[in-house]
Amino acid sequence: QRYQSQQTVTYYDSAITRQLQKEHELSDLFRNSIQNHDFQVYLQPKVCPYSGRIMGAEALVRWQHPKRGMIYPSEFIPLFERNGNICCLDNYMFEEVCALIARWIKNKQPVIPISVNLSRQHFKNPDLLPHLSEIARKYLVPDGVIELELTESVFFDDRRIEIVKGNIKTMHQLGFLCSLDDFGTGYSSLGLLKEFDIDTIKLDRKFAQDITNPKSQHILACIMELTKNLNIKTVAEGIETQEQLDCLKGLHCDLIQGYLYSKPLPIPEFEQWAESRLF
Ligand code: C2E
Ligand code: CA
Ligand code: CA
Ligand code: CA
Repeated sequence: QRYQSQQTVTYYDSAITRQLQKEHELSDLFRNSIQNHDFQVYLQPKVCPYSGRIMGAEALVRWQHPKRGMIYPSEFIPLFERNGNICCLDNYMFEEVCALIARWIKNKQPVIPISVNLSRQHFKNPDLLPHLSEIARKYLVPDGVIELELTESVFFDDRRIEIVKGNIKTMHQLGFLCSLDDFGTGYSSLGLLKEFDIDTIKLDRKFAQDITNPKSQHILACIMELTKNLNIKTVAEGIETQEQLDCLKGLHCDLIQGYLYSKPLPIPEFEQWAESRLF
């Protein structure tokens, strides 16, 4: 018995050690990887389910390391949120997206609206919005093309509601739209809609997974009616099946994002995908 529990402790210990080692390693690789452009923008289409046309895309980071291969966000975003690298990474992604939009404009290609994720740590930084605006101006990004995705935690973190409200107002003045990500996973998602000037909500993937449940459908129907009345756009995330799609169409959801249409794609493949589905 005693022997066994010691073994468990040893195993647990080495798992933590391995995890710490890995985090150390990733932290060390970060600077170089930013400089070498090892981080890449992948784009996942947002599609109007009634016309089948592409209406936007979400930028999602992929870490393509020359030695370690592809590293997914779940392996490094939580770490970078703790060690502060996330601000640098979000700025990098934002600039890559601005550069892409500038290229589309220069080549007279259609400009597809893109949303960029901002971590909560980052949103607390008072330099964030002036900095993003400077980058967007440098690339002559038109107003209304970039949407910033924020999670609910952003709105609770800072007890001073007025500051967050002010930030959203500034976001709008600078030409950015505001999207509430992972909607429905927190405690008072509905309250946020009343308090803050939000343009879009992104229904969390859990809604789609649970969509055959009549209770979930009632809740979704209420959310849809409410958002219509408040003039807020709805995007359903993580849609994988025709059944989920049919349900959401029945509920008049505005846009669909999920593997059913496309997984996140590298930019050239995304452009190809979008070509035949432009408005
Ligand atoms: P998120 O913002 O909620 O992004 C949606 C996630 O769902 C993405 O995972 C996407 O690939 C995945 N997804 C899309 N459609 C489907 C589907 O039909 N089925 C399933 N099972 N999954 C689907 P990904 O790319 O691994 O990103 C995970 C999370 O990492 C993101 O969740 C976001 O919170 C964070 N993240 C990604 N890129 C960035 C970034 O540039 N900055 C920041 N701050 N966070 C990022
Ligand atoms: Ca997101
Ligand atoms: Ca989400
Ligand atoms: Ca998420």
